[in-house]
Amino acid sequence: MDEIKLPTNLPENISQKIRSDGKIRRIVVDRIKCIGANSCVAVAPGVFQLDDQNLAYVTDPDSTDEDTIRLSAESCPVLAVLLFDADGKQLFPEE
Ligand code: SF4
Repeated sequence: MDEIKLPTNLPENISQKIRSDGKIRRIVVDRIKCIGANSCVAVAPGVFQLDDQNLAYVTDPDSTDEDTIRLSAESCPVLAVLLFDADGKQLFPEE
């Protein structure tokens, strides 16, 4: 399995998982930013769920395609879903 590099700019309180394939390899929820708006869960319920504090966490990162994952990140009103490639480069939100 190839190495997935750690991003240098990860927030302090996160939920994250690594995808096994494709361009998007690391899915991160910034749990300090998350306001429990549920949009990410509505778009990609296999990838995100809300916990008992109403904060999103990553469940199964391989359960849907990359377009849907990107849409779920774009749907977050506070941009709390971050996407990275295998080199640790942030793909969304674009820097
Ligand atoms: S869409 Fe954003 S604010 Fe809403 S639950 Fe997901 S991560 Fe949290």
